[in-house]
Amino acid sequence: MRSFVVGGAGFIGSHLIDRLIMRGPVTAYDNMSVGKREFLATHLASGQVTLVEADALDLDKLTAAMRGHDVVFHLAANPEARWGLERTRLDLEQGTIATYNALEAARLIRAKQFVLASSGTVYGNIDAACGEMDLGHLPISLYGASKLAGEAMVAAFAECFDLDGYICRFGNVVGPRGTHGAILDFCKKLKAHPDYLDVLGDGRQAKPYLHVRDCVLGLLFVLDHARGERPAVYNLAPGDQTSLKRIAALCVAASPNRHARIEFGTGAQGWRGDVPRSRLKPDKLAALGFRVGYSSDDAVRLAVGEVAREVFGSPV
Ligand code: NAD
Repeated sequence: MRSFVVGGAGFIGSHLIDRLIMRGPVTAYDNMSVGKREFLATHLASGQVTLVEADALDLDKLTAAMRGHDVVFHLAANPEARWGLERTRLDLEQGTIATYNALEAARLIRAKQFVLASSGTVYGNIDAACGEMDLGHLPISLYGASKLAGEAMVAAFAECFDLDGYICRFGNVVGPRGTHGAILDFCKKLKAHPDYLDVLGDGRQAKPYLHVRDCVLGLLFVLDHARGERPAVYNLAPGDQTSLKRIAALCVAASPNRHARIEFGTGAQGWRGDVPRSRLKPDKLAALGFRVGYSSDDAVRLAVGEVAREVFGSPV
């Protein structure tokens, strides 16, 4: 299997590549806007991975680099949903158009399988556990809108061009080498000012947190076991959720100053477009035989330790 990972130098991409190299050669394609060469350093040194530093918005370069690969993972996207509030074209370009380009390149080179990293944000603002068919509420952020548009394109390319398309809707992914997200934000803030932690929103936001190890195992499971659906859509997340209040408390406890004050904002949302409370039903993937190893609380607890070690530089 020859794998091509768009966004391969990023958080999830680099963890995915740690596993993909056991299946054959891998190319990471990344514009390095967020991704880091050091995440792939060992594999680059051993020659198991090739890194192409280029943009997914450049269709010619993307197609040329993708040639000769059979499986494409598309992980590149705007890393911060809230940036869409300031730059309204961001998700159109980095989400919708980049996904079109990845699909078009996969079509041109006749790739066999295409996996899209999507998100639970496609379900919109609904405080009920959502299964794959519960799309009645629609996304409330430009990021979520671009994910749903990308999903629709995977479905259309799969139908029109005989490409096996797979869509995984992740919960919030946590773990080492994170490039963004609440745990990293909180630890960085506590490093900058150890005495207090300000939290966007009232802290009652609660979401499913998926450890990156489970995320990677789930992606590979889908690739190996999902058959016959066009496209195959799966929630990839634990069924439970963890509150932001709990994450803040764990980050403070893991920081050098365990007595740091936590200052919550007001309002249910961290920012406009943020889905304050969400839950994903993992039943469809479970029926195929995959269950995540970590509950949301366990994933968060583990990840806080991992990220704290990276940010504060010593065991906690
Ligand atoms: P990340 O930002 O760490 O990784 C994305 C990588 O894509 C980065 O290395 C970045 O440099 C690269 N990239 C961005 N735009 C690019 C472009 N135009 N051309 C080439 N490379 C580009 O993010 P991640 O957390 O690893 O997320 C991977 C995917 O999973 C994204 O699509 C994201 O939307 C999705 N997802 C992530 C989470 C999460 O909590 N991390 C949750 C749901 C969905």
